[in-house]
Amino acid sequence: MPDTLIWFEHEEVMNMAEEKKIRRIGILTSGGDAPGMNAVIRAVTRTSIANGIEVLGILHGYAGLIANDFKVLTARDVDGLLMKGGTILYTARCEEMFDPEYRQRAADNCRFLGIDGLVCCGGDGTFRGAQELSRLGVPCICVSGTIDNDIPCTDYTIGFDTACNTAITAIDKLRDTMQSHARCSVVEVMGRHHGHLALAVGASVGAAAILVPEDPGNFEQDVVEKIRTGRINGRNHHIIIVAEGYHMSCQQVADKIVEETGVDTRITILGHVQRGGSPTSQDRVMAIKMGCAAVEALMAGKAQRVIVLRDNKIIDIDIEEGLQCQKDLDRNLLEQCRRMSI
Ligand code: ATP
Repeated sequence: MPDTLIWFEHEEVMNMAEEKKIRRIGILTSGGDAPGMNAVIRAVTRTSIANGIEVLGILHGYAGLIANDFKVLTARDVDGLLMKGGTILYTARCEEMFDPEYRQRAADNCRFLGIDGLVCCGGDGTFRGAQELSRLGVPCICVSGTIDNDIPCTDYTIGFDTACNTAITAIDKLRDTMQSHARCSVVEVMGRHHGHLALAVGASVGAAAILVPEDPGNFEQDVVEKIRTGRINGRNHHIIIVAEGYHMSCQQVADKIVEETGVDTRITILGHVQRGGSPTSQDRVMAIKMGCAAVEALMAGKAQRVIVLRDNKIIDIDIEEGLQCQKDLDRNLLEQCRRMSI
């Protein structure tokens, strides 16, 4: 295990790190992957090294912490990561983290590896894991990495913008063929519990209807009637966006449209393609801001915090407090889209 510290350039910040005894930071990515996770790894690694702190990349999320599966990250290891989708550290869902015995092992391994602070990038499940580890004495800082933008405590989650753009690009292409055949297209986008992605995508492609779990609306009025009147008014194709967690499946929505209108209807499930791809500028910049803030928080002696965007400012809040926040869908936007669907 390497124990040499890279000599620091920023003496003041370094002194602070020394004071708080931050010599080695661990970083892991966990839960579903999101574009921009690699950019977070880069930001955390470079910021740490620039401040004389060593970085261990924990592989396969919390599973790697339990199994002591890690690699040292150098500044060169993270070259080219800003534009790369996925996560070079891999991600995983790790059942053992729900077992106190394994959580203790993960915390013990942190101590054994000399990890003075851990950056955990993922969704709210990952935050819960970090909260448990913090309780066991491992200073953890969370950074959001999830395409769903469903973490209540932050206005933005890294990966959301890229996922939106991936879906929009695909649907714009779909529209061409739907128009040629005068069809209706029902497209499922990710979002098991929330419709943030479906709403942003639906608004961006000018969908005839956006079906989300938070607001089931009135199917007859919002979908069937829109298609019927649209056809009468000379609109020959329609796009319906369905969030994965809507109470009817994409197929059920399509079947109902055919049954009620007789319009030739096709389904497309975008699926995992939404998780991939090179991050957009917004996700790259956010990864830099949040990744740097995570390291700075550890250097300032903070623990059990989550880095969030609020009112366009990057701040850190207590994980516990963050997990209790509520975030509603932008119902105003949903209503505006419904009104414009004529
Ligand atoms: P996504 O939003 O993409 O689903 P996520 O981080 O919410 O990402 P989860 O599968 O919910 O994904 O959580 C990731 C991992 O965090 C879990 O596999 C588990 O290892 C850990 N974790 C989740 N909840 C807890 C908990 N209550 N206690 C301890 N660890 C947890």
